[in-house]
Amino acid sequence: MSPSSPAGSSSSSISVDYTNVLLALPDGSIPQNHEDLKSYTISSIGGYPTFPPLDNLPNEINCGICHQPIPLLSQVYCPLENGENDRILYIFACARLKCQKRDGSVRAFRASKRNEEYVKDVEEKRKIAEAAAEAEREKARKNPFTLSSDSQPSGTLFGSQPLFGSSIPAPNPFAPPTNASVRATTNDTTPDISKLSISATSSTTLGPPVPAYQPAQYLSTIDEYIPPAEDVDFESDSEIDGDEDMKATMLDDTWERMLPKHLDEVFQHFVRKLEASDGGSKQVLRYEFDGIPLPYSSASPITKKLFPGCEKPLKKDEELNLNELYKGNSDKGLEGIIPPCSNCKGPRTFEIQLVPYLISLLTPNTISTTGEISVDAKKKLTEEERKKELNDLAKKIKEGKRDDVINEMEWGTIMVFACKRDCIGFTEEFVGVEWEMGLSI
Ligand SMILES: [Zn+2]
Ligand SMILES: [Zn+2]
Repeated sequence: MSPSSPAGSSSSSISVDYTNVLLALPDGSIPQNHEDLKSYTISSIGGYPTFPPLDNLPNEINCGICHQPIPLLSQVYCPLENGENDRILYIFACARLKCQKRDGSVRAFRASKRNEEYVKDVEEKRKIAEAAAEAEREKARKNPFTLSSDSQPSGTLFGSQPLFGSSIPAPNPFAPPTNASVRATTNDTTPDISKLSISATSSTTLGPPVPAYQPAQYLSTIDEYIPPAEDVDFESDSEIDGDEDMKATMLDDTWERMLPKHLDEVFQHFVRKLEASDGGSKQVLRYEFDGIPLPYSSASPITKKLFPGCEKPLKKDEELNLNELYKGNSDKGLEGIIPPCSNCKGPRTFEIQLVPYLISLLTPNTISTTGEISVDAKKKLTEEERKKELNDLAKKIKEGKRDDVINEMEWGTIMVFACKRDCIGFTEEFVGVEWEMGLSI
């Protein structure tokens, strides 16, 4: 067996080092009343969303199934590289049992607002690049005997160097702008009813009685790094060869209870990629604008469309090459699979996905409608208490109160496809949810 397939019979390939994916990890609670709770340039999980000054902002986000207000899972500040806008993504999901596994219970929105600082940055970078190119051309004219590759103007401008140079850093996804003038301005005293009319000048933070997971938590990011396979667990290779049970025990507890009965190649690839990630086992979110999502199961309708053929059994020594199967790489891109932007009608592209570790952080007992941390959330449930909770839940369902039951979320991954053109405004984006198949109560 080759060292590149550490887990035995499977041949899915994850033998990459650094990828282009940015991983977000939880990074501590945001203190109550902290100004970051009312900033749209902060990336967080739980808590309330803050929208930049835009028209047509909502007072709450409702579930497409039960039409009740639903809590925020994550707010992500992700201005595009060399873009001119603040760009924020918001993902919400209904926690009601009856809405689980139904389309419409998970919703994503994007707020894009022109940021004059970024506009200026882009303009300045363009000028610097033009000046540099001119200097190169000048140099080449003056010294015709140095016609090496680096003296070609086009090589300088569009070559391996960043297009606009590095003297002014590009806005990084997740990083709040350093300039105080572009930070969110909050207006605590705004009465609810006037929110819509004055939304063009101040930011809006939703609040009670809209439900929210409390406390909100910061997100920090790392680059995804997958160490070469032989560094991972080459030693345990022979022990686990072909043994499905052993494979399962390799997985972290978090995964174990999510394992569907039948392990398919796509799911194995998903788990391994998350497990192998150096320092990234607690990732809650993966970000790569215009990248390729990491699919959860070959049985999901969205995965079948995005990666046609991924469910076919692999031949011996054949590798699962999801990048090759991805429809987004084709001439037509995701056309016909992902609907265009509902605002500008331009194409959408993959941008962000949530992964299941998030579910273990945003548990039903941490949902609060008061803005305060719920009493239940403060204590960690013992196994005994968890069992009791499940029993109570079963009882409620028996009594026909199913509609009221708030439950742990049951998805494998939530993929968000957003406008490639970054059009201005507050727009609902497309979510592709792969529902979890294993656990049922
Ligand atoms: Zn609902
Ligand atoms: Zn658009």
